[in-house]
Amino acid sequence: MSRKTFSDYKKNIDNDIRTIIHYGVNVACYKFPFLQTILDYASRDITHIKREELAKPFVEKIIKHMKKNPFQGNSEIIRNGTMLKNVKNFIDGKINMERLLLVTEKEGFKDVVRALPIVGHTQIIELYKDEMRTNKQIILTDNLLKFAKNKNLVNLLSLGTDTRWDLQQRSWETKNHPETLIEYNEQSGDLFEWRFNNRHNITSSKPTLINYQGDVCFYCRKSVSLENCEVEHFIPLDLAKRYFERKNKKLKYNLNNIGNLVNACEECNGPNGKWHLYTPSKEYWYELHARNEQICNSDKPLEKTIQSNLGMTSEERHQKLVKLKELCNEFSMQDWKPKKTYGELHYYRNE
Ligand SMILES: [Zn+2]
Repeated sequence: MSRKTFSDYKKNIDNDIRTIIHYGVNVACYKFPFLQTILDYASRDITHIKREELAKPFVEKIIKHMKKNPFQGNSEIIRNGTMLKNVKNFIDGKINMERLLLVTEKEGFKDVVRALPIVGHTQIIELYKDEMRTNKQIILTDNLLKFAKNKNLVNLLSLGTDTRWDLQQRSWETKNHPETLIEYNEQSGDLFEWRFNNRHNITSSKPTLINYQGDVCFYCRKSVSLENCEVEHFIPLDLAKRYFERKNKKLKYNLNNIGNLVNACEECNGPNGKWHLYTPSKEYWYELHARNEQICNSDKPLEKTIQSNLGMTSEERHQKLVKLKELCNEFSMQDWKPKKTYGELHYYRNE
């Protein structure tokens, strides 16, 4: 395999929003519900949103997540957790919604409105005009409104935000459980971790994968929705079975780790149900590696999972994939690629 460099995402609004989801400043959890709230308003063609109109959908999302998982922020960094304390009080029945909404209006938007579009130290995109100080409102940009016409994409981004939020919470929580690794549960379609010898489902895998590969089939690049795509093992589970039969030892690679999962459309989901005969052709291995690197760079509990399965450095991970590809060839799996493609790969460029 010759060395290749991997290109970055193309600059466009949905990739910018994904970048915000993954890399944006995020001390508590506010950017997730805030982003979902403005996407929702944009998809309903509403431009001027008052602070009090932001408060309810915003805080309802926080309540929902906090009920699922109490870890809502990096406690070392959040010194003034007034807002989150009040959400907790609401869940415990100590204050009512009216009171919580007042606190949300006062405390909830102090930083997030300014910080949302910032990645590193740069504002990467203008999603709205910030008039919080003068008129207690934001005004969504035409750019965002135009983008929000694509309901499927908005829905996928919102779900992707949810799964990222779940994983971020796990990362805050795993300060207490530093050994956590994430695996795939085929029955439920969720990502889970082993804890105290039990599986704990964390979040659904399809939107998580969409975060990194986009809303397209990993192979043919046809647009997909959550309903018409399947989570696919890039290297088929069959490899472990055959490896054991042939070599009488266990394959040292967990085929159910996120680094081996992609979303694929129905046609590409196992060529005629015969993935055991095939392995994706070379460019898809590059694509997979690059995508895994993106996961490593942005998603804390997933980063650990990928490192533990594929290696600590990018080069080790690359070499591990090369070895696995050789193993597939050794077991006579033939190169496969879709007959028809609908777009370019995200990372791999055929130079
Ligand atoms: Zn496909």
